[in-house]
Formats: sequence, structure tokens, C-alpha cells
Amino acid sequence: MQNADNARTQEKNIGLSADYSREFFTLDPKLTKIIYETFYKMYEDGMVYRDKRIVNICPNCKTALADIDTDHEERRGIFAYIIYPFVNEEDKKLAKEKFGVEGITVATTRPETMLGDTAVAVNPNDPRYKEFVGKKVLLPIANREIPIIAEEEVDLETGTGALKVTPAHSPVDFEIGKRQGLEIVNVIDEEGKMTGNIPDRFKGMGTTDCSKALCGELSELGLLVKIENIKHEVAVCERCGTPIEPVISNQWYANVESLAKKALEALHNGDVKVIPEGQQKALEFFYENIQPWCISRQLWWGQRIPVWYSGSKKLHDWLNENEGKTVEDFEKEFNVKANGTGEIKLGEEMPDSSNPGVSWEQESDMFDTWFSSGQVPFSTLGGPGSNDYEKYYPTQMMIHARDILFWWTARMIMFGLYKTGEVPYSTVLLTGMILASDGSKMSKSKGNGIEPNDVFQKYGADALRLWYYSDALPGSNAPLREEKIKGNRNFVNKIWNASRFILMNIEDEEIEKIQGKEITETNRVMATKEHIKKVSLNIDKYQLNLGAENIREFFWHELCDKWIEEIKGEIKDQPIDSDLRIEKLSELLWLLKENLKIMHPFVPFVTEAVWQELVKLGLAEGVLMVEQI
Ligand SMILES: [Zn+2]
Repeated sequence: MQNADNARTQEKNIGLSADYSREFFTLDPKLTKIIYETFYKMYEDGMVYRDKRIVNICPNCKTALADIDTDHEERRGIFAYIIYPFVNEEDKKLAKEKFGVEGITVATTRPETMLGDTAVAVNPNDPRYKEFVGKKVLLPIANREIPIIAEEEVDLETGTGALKVTPAHSPVDFEIGKRQGLEIVNVIDEEGKMTGNIPDRFKGMGTTDCSKALCGELSELGLLVKIENIKHEVAVCERCGTPIEPVISNQWYANVESLAKKALEALHNGDVKVIPEGQQKALEFFYENIQPWCISRQLWWGQRIPVWYSGSKKLHDWLNENEGKTVEDFEKEFNVKANGTGEIKLGEEMPDSSNPGVSWEQESDMFDTWFSSGQVPFSTLGGPGSNDYEKYYPTQMMIHARDILFWWTARMIMFGLYKTGEVPYSTVLLTGMILASDGSKMSKSKGNGIEPNDVFQKYGADALRLWYYSDALPGSNAPLREEKIKGNRNFVNKIWNASRFILMNIEDEEIEKIQGKEITETNRVMATKEHIKKVSLNIDKYQLNLGAENIREFFWHELCDKWIEEIKGEIKDQPIDSDLRIEKLSELLWLLKENLKIMHPFVPFVTEAVWQELVKLGLAEGVLMVEQI
């Protein structure tokens, strides 16, 4: 909450004018209800289903970790070179001639995962292995035959250029397995212990012990070429430092292919526009290559997926995986009572069960946060049918960071079309990241971050805003350099000082006449009207950097450098309250006020402060924001 308060304060300090009475909390039950309705609808439409996915487990904390919950550390490890002998005598002979051994040699940092290998992948352009693609090797110790497959992704330079593929225990291999339709053989459980269809002597072993035992046996078989000691980067649990274990598990998936098609159409029709344009192409590419979306997460907080399993989740998934098998088969296999049918019921409350032998297990997984964030445009308005929704949906513009385009806008457009038949907004404006002065990412650990509050204190929010509009182009990252903000601070001071100077030249007894004075179309007035048009056009085109440059150039070099001096000359020696003075000073005041208005979106604080000075003197009314623009 403290972070939230801090963020609100910063938003206000920088001049964000939001309607805070409509602030919402992501886990608000009213929003959750709408999120659940979407899930129910997708279930009925056959769009959500259970399927396998690799998740990161900390074997020590016994919990699944999101990528952000993992750190990367350099650790000592091994690189083991292992021979997988060919099955056919002919292939053995050929291999012997080419490599000096009767098989293909793979290199691995994790020998224990070999028990779960289901292929060896080589690059199709690798002359060493070309002729072996499609042939079979015998996986040592496990004694299973596995194929040599061709994969463009395999790096010729890494290890031996032959990659053992373990779909159950490596995210990269999992993807290869999916593409190639490989079998998934699970050999490590969620506690980091060896399991599954492996020789009994390894069952229950920790992965490190199993690795050692395997290397010993391979060495005796003459299949271990060598072991190199290496230092390499491993992903570790952020909380306890234990290396994470990628394991296969059943998750909820959404097939959003039909929605991606609709979203693509909406982009092509111009129903939604992405600024900058190049990112629209990227979004189109994302939709054209849409993948099933894993919507379940093993988190402690969030929106719980509203599903109940008759008997158990394990029973449901087992029946799902083993087509043709029955509940009785499950009971035999695991030597337990099933207490249910494995069917699924949706809802937040436990389903009624008239049968006392049936128990229900509640889904423990949460929705991926993007599953709910993707529905924000209508869930925050109360959903279809509510007053706010009818009044405000679809909205006009969404502004968010470029790096979450595929996570957020991609989902918001799809969900919008799915639930409401309309795109959620007509324009998405992407922002870049503000980088440290050397162009690197700001980070707490590097200590190169800049606190917005410090910048406000030192240079004021207007200087920071104007720098941002000038330097941070839509969708591009920009390094924050102090001297640039300083330059903008000088301009902000110039606005204040020039305005004060203009006001000083108006005598009290002239104010009343100036108030009612009509402005004549001088060259200066016409040039200012042109300028306003130009800046407005740049704002409309989201070329805010050009707009910022326009207002700075015009105010500084036209109004201050030229016109104030000109007008000073024109009224020189004119008596106070004379017609000429009133005419010229009225014009000068008009020029100032029009400049304040067009500069206001860029530098709201100083322009408003000057405006209020004018109000005090009776030379202006109201406030600049909203009323005047
Ligand atoms: Zn841990």
C-alpha cells in the first residue's frame, strides 16, 4: 500500500489528472465476477482445456516459481560427454569411421536428465551429422531407442553440436518436443527426486546423486568420453538459492486462435491503431503466430481458477492423459480410492454431491494476471449491461509500456472482441522505458536509478515533463540526462520571467480597457494562430517531440526575443492609458495567453501559475486546465 501511495503522489506531482474516485483494485470481487464469467464462457465454447507445460519448481521450497521469482547465478558444474550408440550395425560402422566411436556423442550439464531423453537433435546443415538424421540410437542405461532429429535451432558450436532432447525437463527441449511430436518422459518429480519409468536403483535419488551414479555406470560401459568442470549461469530460487528444477505439469490453457483472427481483422480494418506504427506490425505478427496461452499460475495470491474436480485433480488429469482407461484402472495403478469420476464442475462454491462416496478437490492454481488485466477495459466499467459500460465503452486511448504489448494490449483486444464484440479502444500509444544516463536499464542493484521525487525537487515537474516529451519518442527508450532536464528547467523559468515582465508593463489604470479590447489581426496574431494549428496537428499525430520543440522555439525566439522587444519599441514614449498603448499591450497579452494555452499540456504547472497571476489582475478567468482548452 505504501508503494501505491507513493505512486499516487508521484502521479499527482507530475501532473497526471486522473479521476481517482474510479481507482480499482485488481482483486475486487466485482471484477473477479466478470473474470469468472469470461472463463465459464470460454469453457462452454471449448476454448479452455488442460495440457502440459514446463514450470520452474524450487525443490527446497516445494513451490512453482514465476520467472521473476528466479535469480541467475554463476555456479560450478560439469559438462559430461556421453556416447549414445547407434542401433543399426551399418550406422555404427559409419559412425566409427567418422567419429571413432559407434555412436553420436552428446554433451550435457545435467547427465541425470538423460533418463528422460526422447531424441537427439542436430542442425540439418551440420555436415558431421546430416546423414544420421532419421536414424536411431539406443539411450544407454534406460535402453530405449530414440531418433536423431533435425532442428534449425541447434547451435553447431555448442558442445558436440548434437543436443540431447528432454522435453519434460527443459523449456527449450519442451518446445522442440512440441514441434516434433516427441514423447514426454518425466523422470524428476516436484521435490527434485528421480521418478517415473527408470531403473529402480535410481528411483528416489536426488538429481546430483543420480548424476554421479550415472556417470560412474556410463564410464564402466565405456560410454563416458570425458567430464569437464565448468562455471555456468544457473537459475536459482530467489528465496533460498536452490537451483530451480524445470518439471512438466498439467495446466489450464486457452486456445485463442479464433480471437487472434478477429483481432488481426480489427487491426487491418483500422479499428485499433498502434502508435508507433512499427509496433502495429509486431502485434500483427504476434496474432498471425498465436500460440495456446497458459492461463494458470502457481501463485499465492490472485484470482483462483473456479474449478472443482470430482475425486481429485490427479484423477482428472490421469484420465485425460490415458485415453481409454477407467477410474478402476486409476485406483489399481495408484492403489487408492478415487472417490469420484474425475469430471469437472465450474463455480466458486463446492458442487452439491448427493453421493457420499464422492469428494471434490478445488483447483489451487490462480489465473495468469494477464487473464484479468486483459479484461480491464470492460471489467472496471462493470461489464456489458452496466451504466458505466454503456456510457464509456469502447474508450479512446490506452497508454502503456511497449514491452508489455503482447501481454496486455494483445489480450485486451482479443477479450474485448470476445466479450463485447468491439475493440476496447481505438488507439494504443506505447511508451518506452526511461534509462539511466549511460543508456543502461535503471535497477535497484546497480543503484543507477533516479527518483522522480528528487527530480521534482531539483528541477520541477514541468522540466521533467518537457524533457520526456522532447526526448522519449513513442515506443522508444530514452536515457535520462540531468543536463537536458536542466535545459528544460531554464525554459520553464523563461516562461515565468517573460510573463512577469509583460505584466509589469501594464499599469493598473490600463487593466479595465485591456479587458474589453478587441484584438486586430496583426502579423504577430496570425503567426500565433498558425503556430497553434501546427502544434495541435503534431499532438494529434502523437509527434509530441515536434510539438515540444515548436512551443519552445516559438515562445522563446518569436515572443520573447522578437515581439516583446518590438512592442516595447512601438509603445516607447507613449503616455499611459493612450490608445496605442492599450492596443499594443492588449495584443501582447493575447499573445501570452494563447502561448500559455498551447504550452499547457506540456508544462501545466508554470502555465497555470502564470494564468492565476492574470486572474488576480482581472486579465483572465478560471483555470487553464479543462475550461480553456
Ligand atoms: Zn527455494
